[in-house]
Amino acid sequence: MADKYDVIVVGAGLGGSVCAALLAKAGVKTLLLDKNSRVGGKAIGISVNGFRSENWPTFGIPMEAGPFVEAFRRLGIESKLDVAPGSFAMMYRPKGGKWATHVDAPGSKVEDATVNFFDSWGLDPEEREACLNVLAEMAMFTPEQLDELDDVSVQQWIADKGDVPGPIRGFLATHSNLMATGLYELVSISEIARIMQVFGGGGETGYPRGGYGRVVEDITDALEANGGKLLTSTRVERIVVEDGRVAGVETKDEVFRAPIVVSNAGIHPTVLKLVGEEHFDKSYVGYVKDIVPSLGFTSVRYIFSKPVMEHGVYVATTEDSYLDLERLDRMRDGIIPDEIALDGVVPCHFDPEMAPEGKQMLLLGTWCTPDPDGKELEAVHKKIDEMFDEMFPEAVPYIESREGRVGPAEISKVSRDSVLPGVGGEAAGLAVTVGYSGKSKPDPKSPLPGLFFVGHDAGGSGHLASHQAVNSGLNVASVVRFYWMERRSVVRS
Ligand SMILES: Cc1cc2nc3c(=O)[nH]c(=O)nc-3n(C[C@H](O)[C@H](O)[C@H](O)COP(=O)(O)OP(=O)(O)OC[C@H]3O[C@@H](n4cnc5c(N)ncnc54)[C@H](O)[C@@H]3O)c2cc1C
Repeated sequence: MADKYDVIVVGAGLGGSVCAALLAKAGVKTLLLDKNSRVGGKAIGISVNGFRSENWPTFGIPMEAGPFVEAFRRLGIESKLDVAPGSFAMMYRPKGGKWATHVDAPGSKVEDATVNFFDSWGLDPEEREACLNVLAEMAMFTPEQLDELDDVSVQQWIADKGDVPGPIRGFLATHSNLMATGLYELVSISEIARIMQVFGGGGETGYPRGGYGRVVEDITDALEANGGKLLTSTRVERIVVEDGRVAGVETKDEVFRAPIVVSNAGIHPTVLKLVGEEHFDKSYVGYVKDIVPSLGFTSVRYIFSKPVMEHGVYVATTEDSYLDLERLDRMRDGIIPDEIALDGVVPCHFDPEMAPEGKQMLLLGTWCTPDPDGKELEAVHKKIDEMFDEMFPEAVPYIESREGRVGPAEISKVSRDSVLPGVGGEAAGLAVTVGYSGKSKPDPKSPLPGLFFVGHDAGGSGHLASHQAVNSGLNVASVVRFYWMERRSVVRS
């Protein structure tokens, strides 16, 4: 029987959807399957009691450039991206001091960001200059320098510099959590610098009207408009291998055949479960098992009886609020650090239609282990609630409910299966550390002929979380299309 599809993409997360839609647009017969009833994966949209949002705080699309803009442009739907600007509140508490808030208002210049950070850290002129030098050096790294720094961790880079002021150390450690979803001892300084450079050159940053789920739906609409097929609520149980190469996928009810399968289901589950270790060389299986997961994230939904949160985004940090190896270890034992960073988004600040009239919702959370069975969540949620009450006492009387407490188990449920102990609930995906990022990012072309990976784990680098997944979708679509053309040149389809 002839193959029905040229390419099957498993998973309609950002990476899988972008890749599938671009392949369809290039004339490749493409099938996209997802186990969930809606597309989006970790960026899936939800609707609860008239509120629309993501499951957890998600923010940050530069409006002028970057992978999202590029994907919509290549799909010919650029006018649909529709990113709304909003105000961004940076909250900082110096040691023993009080919270201070500095706001990036919509329309503010990018240079203002440094001034705001430095103001919020309460730096004296000398410290300001030292911090500015560090950030300027990172902004000016050339592509060649960045490649060389792929093997240098943030911690190592800071240590080599010698006398770096405490706040910038805290800033880079925090941004290792925030931008690379990893630990500063392990994340490469080049990844943080690349992300800063992309955001610095991308124009104002905002949130997509209708949410990230809507963005993914626009992308899968483009897939269908270009002749591709989308099946939701369709879990792939197995990737079929025949004669040492990929032959299609098997669901509970059906087998779909194609000579190329692109998996957005995560490298761990794809290799270890959907295909099976027996189809790979032992050393490759060892390499895959060793790829380090990103941090997890856990959050709470605060519902207010009236609009009380003034800004669209809240990032609250202290010099000491980052997760490092030691704090993560203690968290695993249920011991929460004294200081934690908070990340919050108010979707209806950007799009009033995302909340019932007169009401408001804030998604607020922090980083944790990626373990779907993690023991730390109850204590972390208690800490988030305590911090909210201390930071926003004027909003407390208007809290109607604190609900939607989600963490790595829920992340895994909408994205990848947990197939190794302590792994599966990553906020971003895999491969964010030295040795697995930048030029060492896992190859999207697997050693099994016809099998490719797409999404955060492989094929993209130098971008923040969702952007990395989209960047991978753009890159992997090109790699797969070329492979498809090569195959056509030797096999009649
Ligand atoms: C709590 C949290 C906060 C975040 N905040 C931000 C943020 O502020 N900014 C930002 O840029 N990014 C953020 N991200 C990260 C971003 O959402 C992810 O990096 C990105 O969405 C990952 O996309 P992906 O393509 O790698 O795949 P995923 O989103 O992991 O999607 C994988 C898809 O594959 C499907 N699938 C898996 N297995 C199967 C199977 N067997 N059969 C069929 N389908 C299958 C899943 O259902 C899913 O749809 C956040 C993520 C989380 C969890």
